[in-house]
Amino acid sequence: MVVLAVLAISASLWFLLEPGWGAAVGCIFAIWLLWRHLANAVALLTWLRNPAQPVPNGSGPWEGVFAELHRVARTQRLEHERLTSAVTRFRSAGTAMPDAVVILDAENHIEWCNPMAERFLGIDIGKDVGQPIINLVRTPDFAAYLQQRAYGEPLELKLARSEELILSLRVIPYGQDQKLLLCRDVTQASRLETMRRDFVANVSHELKTPLTVVNGFLETLVDGRIKFTESRSREIFGTMQHQTDRMLRLVEDLLTLSALESSAGLSVEEEIDVGALLQGLHDEAAALSGGRHKLLVECDTPAVIVGSDAELRSAFGNLVANAIHYTPSGGEVRLSWHIRDGGDGEFTVSDSGVGIEPHHIPRLTERFYRIDQSRSRETGGTGLGLAIVKHVLTRHQATLEISSQPGRGSRFSAILPGRRLKSAVTRSQPIVLNVAQS
Ligand code: ADP
Repeated sequence: MVVLAVLAISASLWFLLEPGWGAAVGCIFAIWLLWRHLANAVALLTWLRNPAQPVPNGSGPWEGVFAELHRVARTQRLEHERLTSAVTRFRSAGTAMPDAVVILDAENHIEWCNPMAERFLGIDIGKDVGQPIINLVRTPDFAAYLQQRAYGEPLELKLARSEELILSLRVIPYGQDQKLLLCRDVTQASRLETMRRDFVANVSHELKTPLTVVNGFLETLVDGRIKFTESRSREIFGTMQHQTDRMLRLVEDLLTLSALESSAGLSVEEEIDVGALLQGLHDEAAALSGGRHKLLVECDTPAVIVGSDAELRSAFGNLVANAIHYTPSGGEVRLSWHIRDGGDGEFTVSDSGVGIEPHHIPRLTERFYRIDQSRSRETGGTGLGLAIVKHVLTRHQATLEISSQPGRGSRFSAILPGRRLKSAVTRSQPIVLNVAQS
């Protein structure tokens, strides 16, 4: 429209006035048009060099061009924002994952990894992108696993840089020959599996020995070719009874452990008078000792424990039985109770027995851990006593403290938290013992 109007004015001037005026107006107009095109072209070029800037507004015929550019740039910006947010979400998901994730290209070079991969596999995302993964995970098993094409089964791996850590690695091929390497910490699960296997092997072994003895005698008796004297028969039946007692004790201890493990917390909260508890334990010790030991009981502060009477009696009874079993005749076994400064209760069994080398102490509460297999069997031990003690104490939020000197004796203390104690004053008749028996 503007162009037509200017052309009309130029033509009118050309014919009505002088042709010079018409030509001058036409020239000025042409120059203006040219300048406007140039200005738009420069604006376009400037924007193209820096498309992050907003699209400028065009004029004249450029208006439509710039409007279209504006629309395209807006669509692209929205798409970019969508992709950036998707990548951010992917990254945060990768960061939050408890497993390590590494993206590998066709040549097994690292393209990306999450922070867990940096921790487990020692990858430094800042430096190691583009590196072959086998330069960082340097074990022949892993190299062989990566080379094979069937990744059905995960690979269990211990890395040289952290012997403690057991990892399960799995490769998932995807896209154009790319691979996702997933890596999970299975240290705990693997340890539990080893413990389970050891436990089954231990129980089988413990039961096999007495069963073999009983079975051997039964075969001979059924065979009937050997005639035994009455005293020999009594001896054989005695041994068989001893072996079945041993199996029974083992099964009972296993059932106790299993019951302790399968119930989450205490089902009963009884009031247990410490004096009466000590009296009962003393009587048990006296029966087990048969007068071979000097027994002492000390209770400086009467108290009432809140917990499971049966469980605590069984746990403390195990400590007392061990003290008797591992103290030679003539030795001393002392049971004591006192309240510590902080208000916690301490039940201690100390003896003057064989004692324990320091390196055994941290492992004593493991199932079937024995220092001297034959001595433990001689004493009728199942190797589960201290494991039961530990479980019972844990259920009472209590702890076990062990100190010992080889050849001089041991001291086992159960520390019960103050909140599990009540003053014995609330009870009618606290029993205070200070018994010595030799
Ligand atoms: P066990 O049935 O064999 O006695 P425990 O779990 O009760 O099993 O004890 C584990 C091991 O700890 C025992 O085999 C023994 O070697 C050692 N032990 C426990 N109590 C004492 C103690 N008072 N003195 C010396 N050694 C002990």
